[in-house]
Amino acid sequence: MSDRGAPPPTGETGDPRAFCRGAVVALPGVLRAWQRQVASDHAAAAELLARHGSPVNLVDPSLLPTHADELVAVGERLGVEVRVFFARKANKTLALVDTALAADHGVDVSSERELAQVLAAGAEPERVILTAAVKPRSLLESAVRAGVPISVDGADELALLSEVARAAGRRPPVALRLSGEPRTTSRFGESADGWRRLVAAGAVADVDVVGLHVHLHGYAASDRVHALREAIGLVDDLRGRGIPVAWVDAGGGVPMRYLEGPESWERFWAAHRAGLRDGSPLTWEGRGLGLQVHEGEVFGTPAVYPAWQEPVRGAWLHEVLTASSSDGADDTLATALADRGLRLHLEPGRALLDGGGLTVARVEARKQRADGSWLVSLAMNRTQCRSAADDFLVDPLLVPAPGAPRTPAGEGFLVGAYCIEAELLTWRRLSFPAGVAVGDLVVFVNTAGYQMHILESASHQIPLAQNLVPDGSGGWRVDAIDQIFG
Ligand SMILES: *Cc1c(COP(=O)(O)O)cnc(C)c1O
Repeated sequence: MSDRGAPPPTGETGDPRAFCRGAVVALPGVLRAWQRQVASDHAAAAELLARHGSPVNLVDPSLLPTHADELVAVGERLGVEVRVFFARKANKTLALVDTALAADHGVDVSSERELAQVLAAGAEPERVILTAAVKPRSLLESAVRAGVPISVDGADELALLSEVARAAGRRPPVALRLSGEPRTTSRFGESADGWRRLVAAGAVADVDVVGLHVHLHGYAASDRVHALREAIGLVDDLRGRGIPVAWVDAGGGVPMRYLEGPESWERFWAAHRAGLRDGSPLTWEGRGLGLQVHEGEVFGTPAVYPAWQEPVRGAWLHEVLTASSSDGADDTLATALADRGLRLHLEPGRALLDGGGLTVARVEARKQRADGSWLVSLAMNRTQCRSAADDFLVDPLLVPAPGAPRTPAGEGFLVGAYCIEAELLTWRRLSFPAGVAVGDLVVFVNTAGYQMHILESASHQIPLAQNLVPDGSGGWRVDAIDQIFG
């Protein structure tokens, strides 16, 4: 090991992003004050890992109401009542549920346990919506018993729900889920015409249709505009049949961004394309992150979350609601909703968790490869900071261990605990201007939305990470979710 005796970097004057950045092009993430604080105090963070294991997830729910209120305020200015339902599947921490409910927002649940936990947290049924992709009988029974609105996906589900409803002697509130992808036929929902046929055939005789639920893939405002127009058309038809639909739920996919500006994002993709083309990739063994090279040309589209995008959150909703209500119409979608007395529901997950999380792990070992790059082994596995996308394109932070012997400045890759060669924690090659020491901490930034939980596994019998939330007196406590299922 070619350690040198250089004094450890202190980071006192500098940016916590100074010790680790993407090789060739840095992707510096937005850091909130509490995140800077964690990343500037090695002793305090190391103590959390000593107590709770590595990695730990730190979740600060305090920004969730601010983000939700931003959406509500945009609606208010345009005369539309907006209700926000936090999509729980984006992060399991129960402090987030408590925070959403305490701020008078709702929660979108996608399974029986999520539903039971949200009800146990004291949610009123109208502050919950069940949107599970698959809804077995016991889940429907729980929702019907609780009076929670159910987003229904099609004829079979409606038939089972009707059976459950009759057995319970209740008329459950439902939202008909409208598929945003009629051409490809999504697994979510039915087309507007499909619902018209089902309603005409009496399929909703045993339920109360209180809402329409739009399902869309992706984030484009224009897709929402199209889907909302279609939904409003269906509302008019249903009301014409005497069904008093009260709201339209535009689902999730409210966009956010992770980076401070567009420049690094554009430079990264230009450099990544060039690297793939010339065989000097920015990624482990030339991983394309959605791109492929064929005969010297780069094809494909990025298979990652757009870490920089515009517009986001409130500005994005404003764009959706001020679009015209139909092609060439003078009135806006906001007016079309308001004139009909329709409430707009939204189910953001990720966008409410912006600035709310960090995942911290300890460096256990370093090894230099034949090409001079370093493998930096962390006490965590690749399911503990991972979404369904190909990679999470925000630079991690390195928090140097005071006094520990460091490698020279260099480049390398972060690897995890699963016993496979390509157990990379991020595919990108990273640069470590002050080297790396055993005992340094790596901090993955802004991980609360999906990165922590959506793919986490306890393979190899490695326990799931503990989730810590503010304890109200400047420290951190274990979230209740880990006491239930820890
Ligand atoms: C995943 C999901 C959401 C949340 O999506 P985000 O992109 O995190 O906003 C909301 N509603 C439903 C039905 C979902 O499946």
